[in-house]
Amino acid sequence: MLYRIDKKTGNKLSALGLGCMRFPKKLGGIDIKKAEVIIKTAIEKGINYFDTAWMYPGSEEALGLVLEKNQLRDKVYIASKLPVFLVDKAKDIDHFFNEELKRLRTNSIDYYLMHNLTGLDPWNDMVNLGIKEWITAKKESGQIGRIGFSFHGALGDFEKLLEAYPWEFCQIQYNYSDVNFQAGIRGLKKAAETMPVIIMEPLLGGKLANGLPPAALKLFRAYAPERTPAAWGLRWLWNQSEAAVVLSGMSDPAQVTENAALAEGCSAGSLAAEELEIYDKVREVFNASYKVHCTGCAYCMPCPHGVNIPGCFAAYNTSYVMGWAAGLQQFLSSTGLASNTSGPERCVSCGTCEEHCPQKIPIIAHLKQVRKRMEPFFVRILIAVVRKFIGSLKADSRAPAQ
Ligand code: SF4
Ligand code: SF4
Repeated sequence: MLYRIDKKTGNKLSALGLGCMRFPKKLGGIDIKKAEVIIKTAIEKGINYFDTAWMYPGSEEALGLVLEKNQLRDKVYIASKLPVFLVDKAKDIDHFFNEELKRLRTNSIDYYLMHNLTGLDPWNDMVNLGIKEWITAKKESGQIGRIGFSFHGALGDFEKLLEAYPWEFCQIQYNYSDVNFQAGIRGLKKAAETMPVIIMEPLLGGKLANGLPPAALKLFRAYAPERTPAAWGLRWLWNQSEAAVVLSGMSDPAQVTENAALAEGCSAGSLAAEELEIYDKVREVFNASYKVHCTGCAYCMPCPHGVNIPGCFAAYNTSYVMGWAAGLQQFLSSTGLASNTSGPERCVSCGTCEEHCPQKIPIIAHLKQVRKRMEPFFVRILIAVVRKFIGSLKADSRAPAQ
């Protein structure tokens, strides 16, 4: 495993971190047995940075349970996050933090982040609630190791946030698909002058691993030795010394093993000019194909009117990348005909979702585009007919009244 040093503490951080947002699911909750294998494999392979959050359902509990059961707490750095957007009163801060300690079955959190600061305003709200004094007390008591923030917003706001407090680390979205998006390469370089920078969305919610358009795949495949698209995505990040830990939401042990092996063989500055040119070409093809840069994070969900927002965007993007018929198939299975979710026709433009989208996607406007492309007249008729048919089948299968 490649390690990067947190200069102020001397902590050796694994260049590959385990993002605990995507543990395998079972019966609506986390499949603890599978999560346990993933966590143990990660530690065996040298991964020591585990990123979770209050907002990831069941994740803190699963991580805490597995670490305690296997006596592995001292092998890892736990990173977790205060859900800033849920904090109204000063006492909420203690409530969330204490609950997180309980969920994680630990006395301290090594790397603690203000979750999803988008600019100075949410940070100033926290300052008014006494967060600076609270952080000082928690650090003095040893309950918090290092304090940082995760960020989704514009570069200018990121720079202001860096100046607003003596942060000890930060977490940004960064990948080869758009080096000027959000904090981007400028933000990365600036932050890295004084603190470790943790990278999230290294593969853009899996799109750079499994959703590349054929023309982009062809560009990668023309290079020898052949690598998977995920390997290309991760190597690009490890090539930059400023990227301290790259978080990957690995959801099976094979993936952990594969990515850990990759991390061993990549060091900063190891990519050749010829390889870097390939990224430039792939970026161009990718960005021309993807219409909505939705990562599928589901922070916008649930929609009060049942619209499956990430499902709509995934199908819409597929329709451009793989062709309209493939997109339609995905659209019908994830929205049009599913019983508990719906397509864009249910959107009443209330705007609730847009407030929560870290990518700042104009969801309402894009849903209108989705509807136009994915639901032409004959598709609407088809959906209505199939729904009627399914409804009649359900009615027929009900037990007759006594
Ligand atoms: S704007 Fe539309 S999609 Fe978003 S929450 Fe409101 S109804 Fe749902
Ligand atoms: S629309 Fe935004 S919040 Fe919703 S899933 Fe996509 S990126 Fe996440």
